[in-house]
Amino acid sequence: MRYLSTRGHPDRKRFCEILLEGLAPDGGLYLPETYPHISPAQLGRLRQVFNTQGYAALAYEVLSLYIDDIPSSDLRALCEKTYTEAIFGTPEIVPLKPLQTKAALGATVYLQALSNGPTLAFKDMAMQLLGNLFEYELTRRHAELNILGATSGDTGSAAEYAMRGKKGVRVFMTSPEGRMSPFQQAQMFSLLDANIHNIAIEGVFDDCQDIVKAVSNDLEFKRKYKIGTVNSINWARLLAQVVYYFAGYFQATQNDTQKVSFSVPSGNFGNVCAGHVARMMGLPIAHLVVATNENDVLDEFFKTGVYRVRGTADTHETSSPSMDISKASNFERFVFDLLQRDATRVKNLFHDQLSQTGQFNLGQDPLFAQAKSQYGFLSGRSTHADRLKTIQDVYADNHIMIDTHTADGLKVAVPLAQADVPMLVLETALPIKFAATLVEALGREPDRPAKFEGIEALPKRVSLMPKSVDAVKAYIVQHCD
Ligand SMILES: *Cc1c(COP(=O)(O)O)cnc(C)c1O
Repeated sequence: MRYLSTRGHPDRKRFCEILLEGLAPDGGLYLPETYPHISPAQLGRLRQVFNTQGYAALAYEVLSLYIDDIPSSDLRALCEKTYTEAIFGTPEIVPLKPLQTKAALGATVYLQALSNGPTLAFKDMAMQLLGNLFEYELTRRHAELNILGATSGDTGSAAEYAMRGKKGVRVFMTSPEGRMSPFQQAQMFSLLDANIHNIAIEGVFDDCQDIVKAVSNDLEFKRKYKIGTVNSINWARLLAQVVYYFAGYFQATQNDTQKVSFSVPSGNFGNVCAGHVARMMGLPIAHLVVATNENDVLDEFFKTGVYRVRGTADTHETSSPSMDISKASNFERFVFDLLQRDATRVKNLFHDQLSQTGQFNLGQDPLFAQAKSQYGFLSGRSTHADRLKTIQDVYADNHIMIDTHTADGLKVAVPLAQADVPMLVLETALPIKFAATLVEALGREPDRPAKFEGIEALPKRVSLMPKSVDAVKAYIVQHCD
């Protein structure tokens, strides 16, 4: 399997070459040259593997279709080390819970749990594997990597818990001082591992991101200090997410002719893009529902064909903050497929049109009209009031608490569910991470998993810094030997 860039760069690379890279050299995103197709017989075999050997074995089967530069026994061992009950809380790893919902008459709606990993958000599903893949590849190359990131919450903690104690890797994670929820701050800052560095910046999330960009654009510094990233455009993260679409399908169906739909709380289009890949491989998915909050860049696209990047001032701060995006950084991958892999057009849209006008419009393109039926995308948006109501309804009808992002997914899914097609709503975080909104909705604190009891009182390890590129660089230099 070789990988190409969505913007037409002539290089073709193997999995381990792109594993430690971010963007392709031409600014595009990496995708496999072709999606491996799963025949009906293979799908039956994968179901058998999942039912008899479990999630890690399924992960190995799916990943091995895309990775041919890691020996099979090593890849299998990496999957088995990653997807364990000890790390993900249940033997099923991504169990389904049926939900009673008054609105979806006749449709079976499930929550697919993806948030029982170390940081209680779905990002652990991919990041835990990435930590093990990075350690494996860096050891093989006798190399080191310094991961520099900016986080408003979920990504940073998932990255730190995945990389803590790993050989050859250090993490320098910037976050806006005082802006994360107390629980999120406690999760990150209580890590005392020597290779994890928390940097609180006196500013907002965009300041953190600007610092990361400035450091990465200093190519000499970047090379000398081996700076890398783990953001959501990393192909390995996306690939790891493909696996749970298969696992959800096998749990919700009895045979391989049935279809299911997924509803995915979306921001950067990483999670739902993995669903698109699963569908392209032949997984029988009826609909992929893209659920946004008030930051409805993606809902607007799927309704009108207009992709319009928002400015900082038009990006809302919402109660589902991990979906507060101004542009969707993985979206280019889907547009590449939508345009039948015409890299010249993708480059024109994302490189030229977006930078010149901040938007492009595919509404008149026959390919856009085709896209809904061909790729099964539906979309909708949710608001703060919708989230509160959805959280209240689910609690009243099921005695289950869901988090704010999952509430967006469910709110959008219910009216779109079809009677004979199971609708799987991806649970992207546990409610304890966003306790304030749960208290607003239900008048009580969400349940707290036992291992997080008293986390806010633990000693904290964090360095406070002004919003200065030089200060962050100096800190990295000082901690690199
Ligand atoms: C990151 C995140 C999302 C958005 O996922 P994308 O892959 O960026 O679309 C949704 N919910 C939660 C809780 C998240 O952490």
